[in-house]
Amino acid sequence: MIATPQIPSLQQKISLLRGHASSLAPWPAACALLIAGLWFWAASTIHYEQRDLRDRTFANASAQARTYADQIERSIGQLDYLMQSLLFSWQKNGGALHLEEQVNAGLVPAAARISISVFDQTGKLLTSTLAEPKGWQGVASRAYFRAHAASPSKALAISNPMRSIVSERNVMILSRRIDDTDGGFAGVLAIAVDPEFLASFVDDTKLGRDDFVSIRNTDGSFIAAKSRNEFRVSDPIFRNTSPVTERMGVTVREAARYADGKARIVAWHTVQSYPLVSIVGVSEGALKEAYLPRYREIQLIAGVGSLVLALIAAACVRHAALRVWRAHHMREVHEAYRIATENAREGFYMLRPLYGPNREVVDFLIEDCNERGAMYRGMARGVLIGKTLSAMLPSLFDTHMLAACRQAMADGLYEDEIQLPQRGSRSVQWMQRRLVRSSAGLAVTLRDITESRLHQEALEQMANADALTSLPNRHWLTGYLPAAVEQAREAGRMLAVMFVDLDDFKNINDTLGHAAGDELLKAAALRLNAVIRPEDRVARLGGDEFTIIVQAAQTREEVAAVAERVIDTLWQPFMLSSGKRQHVVHASVGVSIFPDDGTSGEALLKQADIAMYAAKGAKKGSYRFFEPEFERRLVTRLNREAELKLAIQNGELLLHYQPRVRSDSGEITSMEALVRWNHPVQGLMAPNEFIPLAEKTGLIVPLGMEVVRMACAQLARWRRQGLPLVPVSINVSAQQLDAGDLGAILAGALQANGLEARLLQVEITESATVAEDGPAMLQLAAIQQAGIRLYVDDFGTGYSCLAQLKRLDMDGLKIDRAFTSELDNSASDATLFRAIVSMAHALQMRVVAEGVETAGQLAAVQELACEEVQGYFVSRPLPADAVARLMQQRFLFAVENQVEG
Ligand code: C2E
Ligand code: CA
Ligand code: CA
Repeated sequence: MIATPQIPSLQQKISLLRGHASSLAPWPAACALLIAGLWFWAASTIHYEQRDLRDRTFANASAQARTYADQIERSIGQLDYLMQSLLFSWQKNGGALHLEEQVNAGLVPAAARISISVFDQTGKLLTSTLAEPKGWQGVASRAYFRAHAASPSKALAISNPMRSIVSERNVMILSRRIDDTDGGFAGVLAIAVDPEFLASFVDDTKLGRDDFVSIRNTDGSFIAAKSRNEFRVSDPIFRNTSPVTERMGVTVREAARYADGKARIVAWHTVQSYPLVSIVGVSEGALKEAYLPRYREIQLIAGVGSLVLALIAAACVRHAALRVWRAHHMREVHEAYRIATENAREGFYMLRPLYGPNREVVDFLIEDCNERGAMYRGMARGVLIGKTLSAMLPSLFDTHMLAACRQAMADGLYEDEIQLPQRGSRSVQWMQRRLVRSSAGLAVTLRDITESRLHQEALEQMANADALTSLPNRHWLTGYLPAAVEQAREAGRMLAVMFVDLDDFKNINDTLGHAAGDELLKAAALRLNAVIRPEDRVARLGGDEFTIIVQAAQTREEVAAVAERVIDTLWQPFMLSSGKRQHVVHASVGVSIFPDDGTSGEALLKQADIAMYAAKGAKKGSYRFFEPEFERRLVTRLNREAELKLAIQNGELLLHYQPRVRSDSGEITSMEALVRWNHPVQGLMAPNEFIPLAEKTGLIVPLGMEVVRMACAQLARWRRQGLPLVPVSINVSAQQLDAGDLGAILAGALQANGLEARLLQVEITESATVAEDGPAMLQLAAIQQAGIRLYVDDFGTGYSCLAQLKRLDMDGLKIDRAFTSELDNSASDATLFRAIVSMAHALQMRVVAEGVETAGQLAAVQELACEEVQGYFVSRPLPADAVARLMQQRFLFAVENQVEG
């Protein structure tokens, strides 16, 4: 199992966000507030609308009750008018009235609902619009008859509904007393009306389901009621028997008062001229029902509104969380990058610009720096971070920093060398600085170049002396040597020119630093001076190259003795002040002799150089006298360039393929194409024997093109063979990018072979990515756009700019073999590797560990969550047919290591 500490767990994310609650919480809080407001609006709207509806219903019911009362008044009035005119004709005709005749004459409405009868003082029927039933005893026992007989009142009496004996229907009786001429009781004129008659003008289709209209006596007794589907004369819906005290009104009566147990709004209005009251009942339930759609609509608005608000809040929280996350992520990237650059020789700073009122940069905030960066300022890193540049560099800010930073902000890149004035115990200091604009501000690197600058200056001052060693320099030599040769010629003496080169000196410089290297050179110069005779001269040509002009020798043997002394003296270990260890350097020495090998100083120097190379090539720490053969060999090397040119054309190049596999399963993910030269004489040559030459001569461009062509042709061949294809990764030199047509070449090769872009990957060395936006960067972007993945090769050996890596959006990093090889040595060495892996992961790049040679390294790499590995432990680079077998096998961990065939 691979541990992946770089990919944060959910818990880590949650605890990170919890730490930023203050920037996230306002959103849900504001949303909750708005939702509460929305629901408050909904509730109050419903409340007011319902009240409004009720008020309108109250008013409507009142109006209806009044209209109804008016109609009753009119209807009863008409009947009363009829009765009075009948009474009049009764009196006029002296008690003779034939209602049948009146009916026949159309004076009395013949409607079946109305019957008119006249009774004598004993209650016997005198005349009627209806036929008298047989054996009828009359109305003497009826309440209304008895009331008229008992009271002299001439007012209209209205009875409650009763069962009519004549019509056998429910009727209400309107009656008036008939007086004889002396005012005595002479009988009763009665009109029997179907109670429904009084409700006939009520349009029951307009009534709600539970609504009703009703008529009562003012004493409270029930007469009739009409609802949507029935007409009642008994058993009222509204059980109210109390007498009406107020002329009109409207109120809500509770459910218990109704036959059906449903509460209603009740409005009543008394009929003006008669003791009747009209009542209108409007169902409360129906009211609620009528309001229901509106109620739902408001609830829906509030509900949907709440949901939308909640979604907006969620989106805002998500956005804020993403920002928090990104900021955290960037911090991690910086931190990882800082660790990765901690060992660098450069001071590294991340600066964030601070703007003034005119939107111009006025200062910078130091967001991060590495230990060396802090050391340059003579402060602890923790103190420096978070300070402004002007506060940290009060004297230098205006003079040295602001203008440069502004320019870098404007142009993207600023590079120069600056001289820092003497301060305290520190002498004048030279710094090389590089300012690169990144998304967050400026990435600044500072490198102390004081020493080389001072050397350079000293050299300029003393044209003939080497500032470091105080030895005469090349300039001096070019003047001195021709003169010395001339002298020797005149004197007929021999003269030897010796070229001394320290082997492995570069190692000292690289591992111990320039100061140690310089110390060693000085010591070497002293020793050289000590082993020559006074007539001989030593000069330093530069770097680790010295020239000795041996003038006092008579024979080759003597010269050889000098060469041996030189080698011997340098062989003695050097003790440098910086370290406790002793350092051994070997010297290679080449010798040319005047007059045997040449007659000019220039020629002698050149031949001594050639001889030195021969010595170095044969055995380090040896010397050689010049031989013409050496020169021939040099010529051969020059010829090789021509050969290589032809080799490219003649198809002498071929590709071997080295698998790259998943570090967890060993599954092949890609194969790196590594070029070989099948030299007609020398056989198979490794790239390090001709790629440097190709780079130097520009042949790398056609060579690279050939590699692309061969890789694509091979992919197509494998496809034809039905093999499961994996992408081929091609090494590309910076020069190919600069040439500007790499994208087109890759696309052309893919198309010519009918291949998809994903089948090619491109590896470029770290140093190639450092260049600012030039055509090379555009090339890379276009290549990636086309679907070809980009990998940074040999990562860790150069110095790449974080901003650059980020902008390029490289797909993966291949960590150089040098780091991998350290992995199973000691635990502390994993720090750098781990820093690179976490930085790569933070930039969403895959990580490939190169040069995995042992099971221990593989385990370490797996432990460090590096996604892929490559190396001899998995497989050496193999010819196409051999690698085809691996492609079929797919998982490579299970098998014995392959041997390059
Ligand atoms: P590179 O791109 O870093 O390729 C990896 C080199 O490391 C290869 O050497 C490979 O054989 C070697 N290698 C792989 N695994 C191990 C291991 O476990 N241990 C050790 N000691 N070495 C391992 P090779 O094939 O000699 O190539 C050397 C360099 O030549 C390459 O380094 C690359 O920079 C260059 N090169 C090869 N082919 C091309 C090409 O087509 N174009 C260009 N521009 N450069 C190429
Ligand atoms: Ca490579
Ligand atoms: Ca590599």
